[in-house]
Amino acid sequence: MTGESDTSPASETRAFEADVSRLLHMMVHSVYSKKDVFLRELISNAADACEKLRYRAVTDVDLLGGDAALKVLVETDKVAGRLTISDNGVGMTRDELVENLGTIARSGTRAFLEAAAGSGDGSGLIGQFGVGFYSAFMVASEVVVVSRAVGAEEAWTWRSDGSGSFTVEPAGDDAPARGTRVTMILNDDSKEFAEAATVERTIRHYSAHVPVPVFVRPDPGGDEKEVVDGTALWVKPKSEISSEEYKEFYHFVSGNWDAPAFTIHYRAEGRQEYTVLLFVPETQPFDLFDPDRRGRVRLYVRRVFITDDADVLPSWLRFVRGVIDSQDLPLNLSREMLQTNPLLAAIRKAVTNRVLSELEKAAGNDAEAYTKFWATFGAVLKEGLYEDPERRDALFKLSRFHTTTDPEGWRSLSDYVGAMKENQTAIYYAIGENPSALAEAPHLEGFRARGIEVLLLTDPVDSFWVQAAVGFDGKPFQSVTQGKADLDAIPLADADGSKDDDAAARAGDVATLSALFKQALGNRVSDVRTSDRLATSPACLVASEAGPDRQFERLMARQRGGAGGRMPPVLELNPRKALVKALSEQASRGGEAARLEEAAFMLLASAEILDGEAPSDPAAFNKRLLAMMELAFNAAPADRGGAPAADGGADG
Ligand code: ADP
Ligand code: MG
Repeated sequence: MTGESDTSPASETRAFEADVSRLLHMMVHSVYSKKDVFLRELISNAADACEKLRYRAVTDVDLLGGDAALKVLVETDKVAGRLTISDNGVGMTRDELVENLGTIARSGTRAFLEAAAGSGDGSGLIGQFGVGFYSAFMVASEVVVVSRAVGAEEAWTWRSDGSGSFTVEPAGDDAPARGTRVTMILNDDSKEFAEAATVERTIRHYSAHVPVPVFVRPDPGGDEKEVVDGTALWVKPKSEISSEEYKEFYHFVSGNWDAPAFTIHYRAEGRQEYTVLLFVPETQPFDLFDPDRRGRVRLYVRRVFITDDADVLPSWLRFVRGVIDSQDLPLNLSREMLQTNPLLAAIRKAVTNRVLSELEKAAGNDAEAYTKFWATFGAVLKEGLYEDPERRDALFKLSRFHTTTDPEGWRSLSDYVGAMKENQTAIYYAIGENPSALAEAPHLEGFRARGIEVLLLTDPVDSFWVQAAVGFDGKPFQSVTQGKADLDAIPLADADGSKDDDAAARAGDVATLSALFKQALGNRVSDVRTSDRLATSPACLVASEAGPDRQFERLMARQRGGAGGRMPPVLELNPRKALVKALSEQASRGGEAARLEEAAFMLLASAEILDGEAPSDPAAFNKRLLAMMELAFNAAPADRGGAPAADGGADG
């Protein structure tokens, strides 16, 4: 061991890990409004320790010895200005004290520091990030933890004033026989927590639903009083639970301060018996988009807490919080059995179905609340569209989209299908990162002109599920930037009928121009053709039928670090546009080839820009642009005859 400093060989002073140290500094100097949350955090740790022991005692009842009544005791001492929280749970070894309370920063520590820096009042964040123990330093000038791990001979004392380091040494004779005692020497601003009445009120407020009984002893020598009975809320019948109690319990299981948006509470009976109490939060948990995508539903077996790490729900429901308590699972579920136990697999499936059906019900009953939910968690739910093909149809029913019909609002796929035009065979979508740029994309013009609705997809997951999904209601999904648009069969919304029936003739007109462009642009494009996709823009780029969607390709290229081959796009021309008509006439007449080539490069560049990209050769593009402007304003140098050269060489 390093850093041994005191007389006793087992006594040592250690520095806090750097992030923990920053966190402590924040706690010590905090001006947080809700300092009383420290009590909730310490009681929750004490109750966790009791639940862990209860679980271990299932297979080894001797662990409990003569002290089987697991409980938390909170003692106040007004004269000394102290508050003590003890539990007879698992306790901590010397190493555990050092690691858990000082040297190992958990992922929540850094996340908390970041979140708290951005918010004025971090006290609401403490429970969410798993940094609960350190919140004791909001109210204490010194914290002393004495702990004896279950079955251990030795007990250890940890102490710190929260400024940079802590000390561990062998505990004295008054150490608990088992478990942990946390004593806080309260600072001058926090003496109220040495008053039993304040403490009792705070416990009733924050900790009414911890699953272990909590007692308060007012001042040394006073009588213990049970403040929380430790019964599980979920076993009570629904009719006996107030919405306030549900909310408090939600706070307990989520560590969050918001209200549950939806509460799902039921008992399954039949082949298996289990109770489910789940909440959909109102706001996003901080770790919603963490790479490990773990859920945190707590699994109990006959009221014994087993784990909150069992992935009882699929990861696309990881925002759901709460409890599942089974009557039938074995208590000694091993890690492996969590993966393979058929009873648990059946619970998983049934509960997932139930959550989806409850959400569907909510969508029908309260559209406003549902769309709010969707705006918060839709991007996560959509992961299920490609991860869980079996549930795809159910998830499609729940999915909502911004569309060209209602760019601000949320439309369902049934809304979409109900509004499809005659002869429309596909569900069209556009993918992009920025909703407003997406709505302006030239690819959408022809759809808009025909009154065809297009889904506007801006979540990163959208690129993935559209590839996996076969279709909805028998209609395939079709990207507006991929393949032929085939919009011929659908008339323009404001057409008098005659304007649009000569598509084939127009395409013929442009054939010469297309061929010429294709030759000029070489392998920059895979094809040049006319399109019904466009209404007001002269040109746009699309992916060929065979290749991946352009947005998806871009996303993958970025993941590869920018480099990498992309399929050359198809350049589509709008035959209705005067510019394209004029170029076409010139091409058919065998007009000046060099100028038509210039036009090909300029149209390609303009389509690239509208796609949110830089022209493939910015320098050449710039020269051509300036040359064209000089021409337009009669400023071309006389010796060049006004025609920009093919190499773009028009200098000023
Ligand atoms: P969290 O409870 O989210 O893990 P905390 O900062 O509240 O974070 O606690 C850190 C760790 O310290 C706990 O995970 C636990 O291992 C340990 N710990 C804290 N209090 C106790 C206790 N009373 N008994 C046993 N272990 C405890
Ligand atoms: Mg904790």
